Amino acid sequence: MTQQQTGDWLNAGAVDDILHGAVRDDGRIRAVLQKARELKGLDMADVAALCQISAPEQIEELFATARSVKEQIYGHRMVLFAPLYISNVCGNECTYCAFRASNKALPRTALVMDGIKRDTAELIRQGHKRLLLVAGEGYSAANGGFQYVLDAIAAVYDVTDATGNIRRLNVNLAPLEVEEFRQLKQAGIGTYQLFQETYHRPTYATVHTAGRKRDYDWRATALDRAMHAGIDDVGMGVLFGLHDWRFELLSLMQHIAHLEEVFGVGCHTISVPRIEPADHSDLSLAPPAAVSDLDFKKIIAILRLAVPYTGLILSTRESAAIRRECYALGVSQISAGSRTNPGGYSEGENTAGQFQLGDHRSLDEVVHELSAMGFIPSFCTACYRLGRTGQDFMDLAKPGLIKLKCDPNAVTTFQEYLIDYASESARCDGEKAIDCELSGMSAKARKTSERMLARIRDGRRDVYC
Ligand code: SAM
Ligand code: SF4
Repeated sequence: MTQQQTGDWLNAGAVDDILHGAVRDDGRIRAVLQKARELKGLDMADVAALCQISAPEQIEELFATARSVKEQIYGHRMVLFAPLYISNVCGNECTYCAFRASNKALPRTALVMDGIKRDTAELIRQGHKRLLLVAGEGYSAANGGFQYVLDAIAAVYDVTDATGNIRRLNVNLAPLEVEEFRQLKQAGIGTYQLFQETYHRPTYATVHTAGRKRDYDWRATALDRAMHAGIDDVGMGVLFGLHDWRFELLSLMQHIAHLEEVFGVGCHTISVPRIEPADHSDLSLAPPAAVSDLDFKKIIAILRLAVPYTGLILSTRESAAIRRECYALGVSQISAGSRTNPGGYSEGENTAGQFQLGDHRSLDEVVHELSAMGFIPSFCTACYRLGRTGQDFMDLAKPGLIKLKCDPNAVTTFQEYLIDYASESARCDGEKAIDCELSGMSAKARKTSERMLARIRDGRRDVYC
């Protein structure tokens, strides 16, 4: 077998050795935090050192460093999206998920194209421009097989109303063959996202008891196949709560290093889902390696320092309170107003969801709060539409040049939102946030922003650089 058919570049022995060899050493931790401030990222041993942090003053130093790195690279921007669940039909047995095949009480739905369009239209009406298409692993020959997914993507992009359309559709789908990934790319997806759930093989085997997902290597090598097929923005993730988070973080670093070695670029985003209560899942009520709120914040801060240019995604699994605490530590993208039951946006929330959500607020409420906290909600989709993906994106991001694009695009898409969708109070505070943001920009970024903002205020839409 070649490296791409097995996940043998994931070396659990090496992870254990580094973790167990890492002693709590204040000098070493200070040196790693100093290295992190140079924005060049960290290696596995550095990450292992930060995983040792437990003293309150060191935690505060870790968080302060993460806040500063986040601000230097991402400024005040926070990208917003919503998941679009098209199907909860699934042939797998993931013991943490309500969509698992043995959950006979769950009403199953694979939305037909009209249903997908209805949900998309509702999300556009709310102001979304970026969606994440999600499905169970159950597209069978009976419902069109993989073509169902391609049709669903086309259906989403097909919906346009007076105020707009979906400009970037990312997907979170079960692993595919290279040829299917090629078709996904041709269909115009943004990022292909796939969570390994746990990198710990014995745990993986315990929690995936039937269906194709039992095959650890098929999943661990999926991002290789996606990249071979030309998808250069891929997203990784771990389902925190299944196994020791320190082991997962170091394995994630191995996975990123592997992609960098083979393809010259690591992952575009990392998601940090924590297990939430799900119907028909005892495990979800008492996760075997539950992650505390404090450790969760450490995970976000450490990832921010380890891979400073990689987007970090926080979903509505987390409560509004935890989300507020995590934004500044390194999160660059959040979902808002989410539903996990197919049809949930046009028909309302029901019992067919995947897990319990922690943040039920609408997009408008989240946007309003973000701008009141000093963030600039961004609906930007410029990079992907201008071909700034994969290596090209990193080449601009690493010398700090991307800021000259992202800052103007963020205020411009936020302005669009405020004019077209915001409530009165969100608009009022949002306009103030834009003024404040402009006053803190470099002369060059401000000039570009003001030029683009003028066009939006003049009635133009979809202005980007
Ligand atoms: N079915 C595909 C798969 O498993 O790869 C697509 C994604 S699945 C619908 C989305 C993600 O939800 C999973 O990768 C898993 O990490 C997460 N998930 C499942 N059950 C969860 C739970 N109880 N709490 C939080 N996240 C959960
Ligand atoms: Fe199916 Fe994905 Fe849920 Fe597993 S996590 S049961 S594959 S939907």
